[in-house]
Amino acid sequence: MCLICDRIEMIKNGENPYFVKELETGYVVIGDNQHFYGYALFLYKNHKYTELFEMDIKERTLFMQEMTMVAEAVKRAFGPEKMNYELLGMGDAHLHWHLYPRRSGDIENYGNKGKGPVWWYPMEKMYAEENKPDAKELEAMKKRFLEELDKVLTAAG
Ligand SMILES: [Zn+2]
Repeated sequence: MCLICDRIEMIKNGENPYFVKELETGYVVIGDNQHFYGYALFLYKNHKYTELFEMDIKERTLFMQEMTMVAEAVKRAFGPEKMNYELLGMGDAHLHWHLYPRRSGDIENYGNKGKGPVWWYPMEKMYAEENKPDAKELEAMKKRFLEELDKVLTAAG
């Protein structure tokens, strides 16, 4: 089984509380844990490729364009200093972007004296229960995110 496919199935069944919007190549969701406030993911629609270079150029270009617009919406909605973009997949080999809003001090003193990728922040802190937004906050975040995403999509035509 694939965790990403499971989440997509939940979206299709209207059972994924983190779902924000469906785009042409993927689904936009808010991350379960919000230590990096505004953390979002963009899940490719199909469990078809494991590498970007396997996609035909047209599909790849559209996937990249949509991911970029999602990242812009995160930036506008949650006001980080910088966005981080990651496409990994050794754990879950289903193309999905991690879009991390970054702020000074967000990995405390971990990494290289507080500098480095999100993954240098301890996993147990990153995924702590206390970082999960409650239902009310999740709804507010999704609303703000969706408003900005719609603006970015409209501006792009
Ligand atoms: Zn999958």
